[in-house]
Amino acid sequence: MRTRSVRFPVAQSAATAPPRPRWRSWPAHYPAFAGFIGPGLVDGAVVGNIFTSPSAQQAYAVAKATDQGSGVVFAYGNYAGDVMNFGLATERLATEGVAVDNVVVTDDIASAAPGESAKRRGIAGDFTVFKVMGAAAEAGASLAEVVRLGRKANSNTRTIGSAFHGCTFPGADAALFTLGGKQMGLGLGIHGEPGLLNMPLPTADQLGRELVARILAETPDGSGQRIAVVLNGLGSTKYEELFVLWGTVAPLLRGAGYALVMPEVGELVTSLDMAAVSLTVTWLDDELEPLWCAPAESPAYKRGNVASQGDPDSWMGPDGSSVDAVSFTASEESRAYAHNCVAALEAAARAVHDAEAVLGDLDAIAGDGDHGRGMVRGIDAAVVAAGIALDLGGGAGTVFAEAGDSWADRAGGTSGVLWGAGLRSFGENLGDVTAPTSEMLLEAVKAFAARIRELGKAEPGDKTMVDALVPFTAEFRRQLAEGADVAAAWTAADQATAAAAATAGLRPRLGRARPLAEKSLGTPDPGATSLAMVLTVMGPHLANTQTLAAAKQ
Ligand code: ADP
Ligand code: MG
Repeated sequence: MRTRSVRFPVAQSAATAPPRPRWRSWPAHYPAFAGFIGPGLVDGAVVGNIFTSPSAQQAYAVAKATDQGSGVVFAYGNYAGDVMNFGLATERLATEGVAVDNVVVTDDIASAAPGESAKRRGIAGDFTVFKVMGAAAEAGASLAEVVRLGRKANSNTRTIGSAFHGCTFPGADAALFTLGGKQMGLGLGIHGEPGLLNMPLPTADQLGRELVARILAETPDGSGQRIAVVLNGLGSTKYEELFVLWGTVAPLLRGAGYALVMPEVGELVTSLDMAAVSLTVTWLDDELEPLWCAPAESPAYKRGNVASQGDPDSWMGPDGSSVDAVSFTASEESRAYAHNCVAALEAAARAVHDAEAVLGDLDAIAGDGDHGRGMVRGIDAAVVAAGIALDLGGGAGTVFAEAGDSWADRAGGTSGVLWGAGLRSFGENLGDVTAPTSEMLLEAVKAFAARIRELGKAEPGDKTMVDALVPFTAEFRRQLAEGADVAAAWTAADQATAAAAATAGLRPRLGRARPLAEKSLGTPDPGATSLAMVLTVMGPHLANTQTLAAAKQ
């Protein structure tokens, strides 16, 4: 899905206009987040694919389309893919002189222990945090103030969810998970992840007690008695059912001495057709309460009356600017090798297409089931971009760099941003000047691995693609040092395959699968599996002796 951006004209000049929050948005959470664009809320939503992070390019484009001169705040739930993509967009905007910062929401109390709250996921608490930030920006707060208030709201926000039935991807035959025998999953995610612990299906009254008890057990230190509350439906829980549950939740909270300030009961952050509810509490203070209560007006959420701000006819969509026409200069040798690079990517595409379902199934065990789809989208985009780069005169380096950018732009997800950035580094190291020598290939492989490790911050043993990448790189280096040619040294891919299989014995310490680490035991890591697969099929093309620099073979 393409980037969506909406620019909301404000009365102030560009120089005095307040900074505008941009929210990360995935379709499948409607009304979050594209439905919340408007005064008192946000200016833009960066829309990725279903349940995957948008790309850095998309985030950058939305920021550029909506920036009015005072800066940009990206706000999003805490998922590795988002953190990396918005981080990359932030780097790029900052180098262009745009003031930019990030607020990461970590409200899901089920996803990590209280001592590790920075590792928690962002779920429906996104809404209360974004509402506070949007109101602050509307009131003309500086970028630093919007960020401070957003972080304060986040540290005062707790959410717990419970699921009765998983959601079904468009076109899928079955739900991502089902709960047998009158069970309920407590601690759901909003991307199809099942609950973290199953329990017998409670009555509405029992459920309300369970949710309230768990939230209040995490009351922030020094907090007051006034709270914002959101009882959120995730997609196919009826409003009537939410109201029944509210009938337990509200008296319990009041009974605990709280004043409920403008509570919301309804669908704010959904997860396709998931049958589930979540309870969010944000502890308010003198700063946060007026912001929570401030007027807002968006297609999906309205509160109070917002003064009209400009001519709606001047609303703009994406600027639709076309990609600058480019051409590359490369040596004949590098271009000859670039044909092999394209062939390597095409071979990878065939392998990934064949394995799409398997990779999706591996990812569905403890993640969100999108790894196969994301890899297919990424490699397909990479193949197209590589072909175009070759047609425009690119050499091997450009082919991989462009392939990486397109992969990252189209794949979404954590693995997409890592693959994209890794391939770009690989290409930058190869360059377009000569056909690569084996030393150059080794340097490029090392750069690929280093970029992935730098961005993802995963260590060996964390159960990620790094567990296949590190042994591959070490073995490739070792064999070349012993005088093997590239083709022989590339048998290092066998080590990656073995290492990927061995990740079955590990518990994930990073990424979307971490909260369900126990479930993942016995299943290999999907990203490690696909990495080994891609390396294996690319080898014969990259090791083609007719196009490698002959002198070094
Ligand atoms: P997402 O987790 O965003 O849905 P994918 O399903 O496409 O993305 O990819 C999941 C894979 O990404 C995991 O199996 C793991 O190999 C890899 N991964 C996740 N987090 C990291 C990280 N921080 N560093 C390296 N690899 C990671
Ligand atoms: Mg996934």
